[in-house]
Amino acid sequence: MDSGSTPRLNSLEIRLRIVDRFYPSSKTCCVCGNIKTDLKLKDRVYVCDCGNQMDRDLNAAINLERCDQYKTA
Ligand SMILES: [Zn+2]
Repeated sequence: MDSGSTPRLNSLEIRLRIVDRFYPSSKTCCVCGNIKTDLKLKDRVYVCDCGNQMDRDLNAAINLERCDQYKTA
């Protein structure tokens, strides 16, 4: 059972690392720009020191949208 779940975890981790190298969208606060380096994969809600609290996917989506704006600007 354990050996069956390991490859799936590894491929997910590799994909996340590629995205992170490109832009740390899920770790960056979309309000103040602070990067939360200790954000865990199981943390579904992004909580920042500035008081921002939102779904981590929504936070990442906002950051990716801004990232695209920077690239085309
Ligand atoms: Zn913040």
